[in-house]
Order: sequence, then C-alpha cells, then structure tokens
Amino acid sequence: MQSIAEVIRSGKVLVSDGAWGTFLQNKGLKAGECPEIWNITHHNDVFDIAKSYIDAGADMIETNSFGGSSFKLGLFGFANRVTEINKTAAEISRKAAGADKYVLGSIGPTGKLLMTGEVTAEELYNAFKDQAVALEEGGADALVIETMTDIEEAKIAIQACKENTKCEVICTMTYDKSGENSYHTMMGISPTQMVDELIGSGVSIIGANCGNGMKNMVDIVKEFRAVNKDIPILIHANAGAPIYKDGETCFPESPEEMAGFVEQLISAGANIIGGCCGTTPEHIKRIVEKVKKFK
Ligand SMILES: [Zn+2]
Repeated sequence: MQSIAEVIRSGKVLVSDGAWGTFLQNKGLKAGECPEIWNITHHNDVFDIAKSYIDAGADMIETNSFGGSSFKLGLFGFANRVTEINKTAAEISRKAAGADKYVLGSIGPTGKLLMTGEVTAEELYNAFKDQAVALEEGGADALVIETMTDIEEAKIAIQACKENTKCEVICTMTYDKSGENSYHTMMGISPTQMVDELIGSGVSIIGANCGNGMKNMVDIVKEFRAVNKDIPILIHANAGAPIYKDGETCFPESPEEMAGFVEQLISAGANIIGGCCGTTPEHIKRIVEKVKKFK
C-alpha cells in the first residue's frame, strides 16, 4: 500500500475518523475509568467504534490508545501493560480497517512536564518508544502524535517513533484562539512555530486537532500553508467549541454544519479531514460526501 503522504502528493484529499473518547462515553465509559483498558475488557465496543467510521467512508481510523503511554496508564495501575494494551488497540482497528484502509496509532501527551523537571527527555523517549513499537506490532500503518501543546514533547515523540518503527509519523497540536487570527497552544506555540520546529524532524504530516471547531481550523491551515506549501496537513476538528450544560459537556456542531466548512478547509490547503471530540460517524459521512464533490 502507498504511504498516506504519497496518496496526498498524488492530489487526493483523504478523510479520517471522528471522536473516540466521547464515543466511548456514549457506550458507557465512566468518568475516571481508563479508556484504553476497554481494548481488553470491552473489545467488541471498541471494534464497533472503529468499524462505524470505516462504514461511514473514512480512509483511515485511529486506535483506542490516546492515553496508552506508561505515564497515563500508570494513573490506573496499568503501567506494566503498555505493550498488551497498545498492541490490542492496533489489532482491533486493523481488523475493522481491513487491508486497504489505514490505521493510525494514536499517541497522546504523557501529562508530564519537561520544563518543570518532572520528567526527563529520556523517560519521555522511552515511554513513547514502548507505545509506538506496540502499536506497530498490532498493525498500525502510521502513528499520530496528537493533542500536543509542548513542542519539545512533540519532538521527542516524533524521534522515538522514527527511530523505533517503520510507521509514517503524523503530529498534530491543539490550538486556542488567542486574538484576532492568532492561535497558540497552551504552552505558547503558534502554528508557524510548529512548522518551523518540526520540518526536518522526520514527520510526514502535520496538523491540528481538538480545541476548535472547523471555522478556526480554516485560519490555522492558512497559517501552516503560509509557512510551508508542501507538507501534508491533517485536521481533526471538534464538533464546535464545547458547551457546559447541566454539568455535562456538549459539542454543538451538527454533521451538516461541520461538512459546510470542508470546501474552505481544502481551499486553505488541508489534505486530510476528520473529527475530534463530539464528532460521530454521521459527521464523517457528511464530510466524505463533501470531499467527494470537491474536485
Ligand atoms: Zn478533541
């Protein structure tokens, strides 16, 4: 199979999957429960999520391994089960994807801060390495390092993935709007800085996920493209900015509303479009329809 970056270079726009975390909650994952242990305890529910995105027409699906580092799993007492949990996560998505759709092994932040000295670069590297190797063993084609806010942590994760697997490496950061046409991660990194810092790191695809609805993502893609014309860009937008209502978090954008931004996103330079929190197979289905029409 061609690499994702090669397919993009041939001129295609690809569609990724939608939310996992909020989907697991709909299936009964409780607050304070470890989402990744569901790969072992609720195998069929996790498979259903993966399969529902393939059925919606996605070209690629992620794995249920966002919090699969030893640091995150350690919060639940599962630090010694990194290999088992991540490998199983990739196997489930591989089974749903079949041979002709891509599986992206999800790697989220460790939650540990380098700059305070709470963790060393070597400890981070080893954690990302263990997770990446297990995801590749389970059948991941690519690894998506996502929801990053610290550029140094992102670089270490990319290095660990590149040096220890043959997978294509994708990295996305999470931006908040910090002023008129100004976006920064929680740690102060702009889309421009991200591109400048990561070009040459071995990353194949960059992008943004979570944090924003589609509208802000259009601005973010424009900023990426202003700095670099060529690097493939992936966008996983939330279904709008979260709204807190009666103690619950809701994501307001309907599938139609989200799909309404697809043309603008592609025109701005996005190459892969999918969803993050609050998006469902119906959102992905509508995005697929719009992408197919856009020629
Ligand atoms: Zn999200």
